[in-house]
Amino acid sequence: MKEKSTASSQKQIKAEKTNIRVHELAKQYNLTSKDLITEIETYGIVVKTHMSSLSPEDVKLIEEQRNLQSKSRETSVPLTTEDAEKPETKKAPQAEKKSKVNQHKHTTKKEKKKSKREVVEEKIIETKTIPDDNVSRQIQEGITVAKLASQLGGLKSTEVIMSLMKIGVMANVNESLDYETLVALADQFDFEPIRQLTLEDKILSEIEEEDDPKDLAPRAPVVTIMGHVDHGKTSLLDAIRNTNVIDTEAGNITQHIGAYYVESANGNLVFLDTPGHAAFTSMRARGAQVTDIVVLVVAADDGVMPQTIEAIDHAKAAGVPIIVAVNKIDVTNANPDRVKQQLMGHELSPEEWGGSTVCVEISALEGTGVEDLLEMLLLESELLELQGNPNRNAKGAILEAKLDRGRGVAATVLVQDGTLKIGDSFISGIYSGRVRAMINDQNKHLKAVGPSTPVEVLGFNGVPEAGDRFNVVSSEADARKISEKRQSELRQSQLSSNSTVTLDSLFDKIRTAEIKELNVIVKGDAQGSVQAISDELVKLGVGEVEIKIIRAAVGGITEADVLLAVASNAVVVGFNVRPTTEAMQLSTQENIDVRTYSIIYELISEMRAAMEGLLEPEVKEVIVGRAVVRETFKVPRAGTIAGSYVNWGSVSYNYPVRVLRDSVLIYEGKIESLRRFKDDVSQVATNYECGIGISDFDDVRVDDTLECYTLESVRRTLSP
Ligand code: GDP
Repeated sequence: MKEKSTASSQKQIKAEKTNIRVHELAKQYNLTSKDLITEIETYGIVVKTHMSSLSPEDVKLIEEQRNLQSKSRETSVPLTTEDAEKPETKKAPQAEKKSKVNQHKHTTKKEKKKSKREVVEEKIIETKTIPDDNVSRQIQEGITVAKLASQLGGLKSTEVIMSLMKIGVMANVNESLDYETLVALADQFDFEPIRQLTLEDKILSEIEEEDDPKDLAPRAPVVTIMGHVDHGKTSLLDAIRNTNVIDTEAGNITQHIGAYYVESANGNLVFLDTPGHAAFTSMRARGAQVTDIVVLVVAADDGVMPQTIEAIDHAKAAGVPIIVAVNKIDVTNANPDRVKQQLMGHELSPEEWGGSTVCVEISALEGTGVEDLLEMLLLESELLELQGNPNRNAKGAILEAKLDRGRGVAATVLVQDGTLKIGDSFISGIYSGRVRAMINDQNKHLKAVGPSTPVEVLGFNGVPEAGDRFNVVSSEADARKISEKRQSELRQSQLSSNSTVTLDSLFDKIRTAEIKELNVIVKGDAQGSVQAISDELVKLGVGEVEIKIIRAAVGGITEADVLLAVASNAVVVGFNVRPTTEAMQLSTQENIDVRTYSIIYELISEMRAAMEGLLEPEVKEVIVGRAVVRETFKVPRAGTIAGSYVNWGSVSYNYPVRVLRDSVLIYEGKIESLRRFKDDVSQVATNYECGIGISDFDDVRVDDTLECYTLESVRRTLSP
């Protein structure tokens, strides 16, 4: 079944390749698919969508017609239907209606939206072109009704109140008017409303003030080490620490603060010592880009492994340059050239082979090549022209934070720019505070630190999260006010979280031009299908929205995939694979759309439907629980029973169930028997053990995951 569907959809791909698709041709003509479809209709070629194929004969006809048209265009006859419609819109609404009837359903919707936006744009132009003597009538948000009336040339307050009533606003003379209300009145009374900056806007604009180039000075690069497990990330961090001059000279007791500062003869560097991709991406997901350069550690005796590729994907998605450290060159079966060869397959071509990726051969264990690596990092950093301004208020990001019994909240701040001093007031995420003490990785108390310095800060009024921004502000009271506002906003947004892209919301987001590019993460059970799906998805991208595959890999959907989706606002699709329990929980929490399929055609057509606004999920799958198989036993007549432990949610008798082995879908069936000890039960909750029998399936094995789910019908709400 599985293979059949793969093969048939691949055949389909091949067949269509001989022709050209509408969107491909549209691209050649520099038109949107929609415009091309409308245009070729007038030549008698009717197609359904941008994915429809055009035969070589069609293409020839289109070519001829376009040539003819472009000749007549020179004699100033409007050409495309859209061009032709415009001058007629005002004069003959009938004609417009007629031509629109011919258009595709979603095109009509889009037109409506467009015209609404056009109206708004026209308004903006109108307000901007008011004659000079009226320009003075600019009205600030927050004005009272009485003041507004007097500023509008001595109107009576009642006149304004009446107009407000007409738009549904009941106000007395002393009421302040907000920006939206002023916009509604602006046309009638001919003035320009001005939005009042909030305290946060004002303070943040101070924070974002441009630096005087005179103040800028080079700063140390911030480096993150990534790579496959056991390839030597921790050993490399240790080796680098050992080369550290200050460390050895002072003989200080170092303390772990999540990052450390290295002084070398040729320059200084900062290393984040939380290796791993989850940390890197979860920081980015919270808006903090703290890494300037990634060191990708690849063991010379093991080569490129799944987490190596994952690291490459994460670094690329963040746009951070990569330097490769080929590690363990001391071991006998080390083969650095093989590693470099493999990296070429991932768009990292080594410099010595004519590419642009710096590869340094090292042994973290013996310390060989580590100095070279530092040298290369400093060179790269020079190329990046990393600069900071020590003469401004500090800003940075939280690397880690904890609640310490004796000291209160202790958070490591990476000061990215400016100088942080004892006594500074700050906001960080939803919290605020005043710097009481600063301690570095050498356990030294400091009074002031400059750009690119990691330092533990005491004085927070709550525990911030890794990745939260950190900004010094001039007033402690302001800091507190902003923090309170953010806390209440957070509570609000937790109630209505809807900013991520989901397939259900995709079309609306395309229509309102909120997204131009849809990021997709593709995971599957085999390289062939992952590749085929990625290729097909990319082809689906049309004028309005491009599809970008930010990660395509074999394997189950992991927490790291979901984190990458959060950081890149992506959707995740799985083919014959399922999310791990952690990934599932995280995706629910972060509202990431994770969809899984077992037929390629269904995956592609659902994605296409989502892009065209035609997605109609009548039923939605809800995972109710998961159990892990701890032992299996054969029971006469009943077959193999899985002695299982429910580790999340609950499992219920007669519910549909999936058998997953290493996140790969093995079987789908029903829970045919469910027992606790000797009793039949209808449901088993989290943390309980039970015996599960699955319909027509005996091959259940220890460590398999049983996923119990149900289908709920969902009514799709049509957006306006
Ligand atoms: P991580 O999981 O990437 O942090 O890897 P570790 O730093 O924990 O290293 C995994 C194993 O490889 C440990 O047993 C290290 O001692 C060993 N190892 C790390 N670097 C080298 C090296 O350069 N040469 C050799 N022979 N072993 C190394």
